[in-house]
Amino acid sequence: DMHDGYEQNIEERFELDAKAKLGDGAFSVVTRATNRATGAVRAVKSVLKSRVQKMEALKNEIDLARDMDHPNIVRLYAVYEDPRHLYLVMELCEGGELFDRLSDIYSLGEKGAQTCMRQVFASVAYCHGRGICHRDLKPENYLIHDKDTALDQTVLKLIDFGLAKAVPEEGCLKTRVGTAYYVAPEVLAQAYTEAADVWSSGVILYIMLCGAPPFNADKDSDILKLVKKGQYSMEGGVWKTVSTTAKGLIKACLDMDPQKRITAQDALAHEWFHLEDAIHAAPL
Ligand code: ADP
Ligand code: MG
Repeated sequence: DMHDGYEQNIEERFELDAKAKLGDGAFSVVTRATNRATGAVRAVKSVLKSRVQKMEALKNEIDLARDMDHPNIVRLYAVYEDPRHLYLVMELCEGGELFDRLSDIYSLGEKGAQTCMRQVFASVAYCHGRGICHRDLKPENYLIHDKDTALDQTVLKLIDFGLAKAVPEEGCLKTRVGTAYYVAPEVLAQAYTEAADVWSSGVILYIMLCGAPPFNADKDSDILKLVKKGQYSMEGGVWKTVSTTAKGLIKACLDMDPQKRITAQDALAHEWFHLEDAIHAAPL
């Protein structure tokens, strides 16, 4: 059906460069594309409609992403459709996933982590200000905008609103979704709000500073046991050189009580971000 008000004839507007593949999704491929009229270079996610199990979920993702207008969230400029595909025309990120950059190094150091986390919290605070919980925050879902920038100068962009959902004004979200390393305990208990995203942000910060997740095991079920207990450590090893203020922010994000947990907005104002020369620990 072609009744969703999406634009037609993407080939007329954009030259899709199938050879310039940027990534793969479950039922999609993301390639570089050039606007024939303006020369603007974009990323286009081509989704094969026949492979989409829940079209409603994809439409939800499109509707939410289309409304987002923030420097740390990938812009969704337009949606095209033909009989077999949906095409999401997005802002292009050329630096790859934050995940891959973090995997290359042991620790970002506090300066690099500050630069990145300021942007993570800014994107999260923006979503929460609009009543949206992302529900899948992790370094795979932050793309680096420019190629070859040092991580302490980089611009991060949040992608993938596939699991994002509006938090009801009264009541809460209930579906158990997300990724084991990053999931908040109250999500496992199936009653949560946007505070769950702040927990995930705290996990990302922890990983940036020490190179490993706070709740870590070989099996997902064992990871989740640790999450439920809120059992993690910031002792020994690299933690000896990490500032008390940074550890304070991690603790505030990983508060087991979502009511007492710091908000994304307050995290942005946390004193760690003002700690100009926190910067003892250089990247290892
Ligand atoms: P899916 O929802 O099907 O998993 P994603 O939206 O996660 O698809 O995109 C798949 C991959 O394509 C991402 O992991 C990323 O590497 C790449 N990608 C997605 N959006 C962009 C973009 N705007 N710029 C560059 N690469 C992108
Ligand atoms: Mg994805």
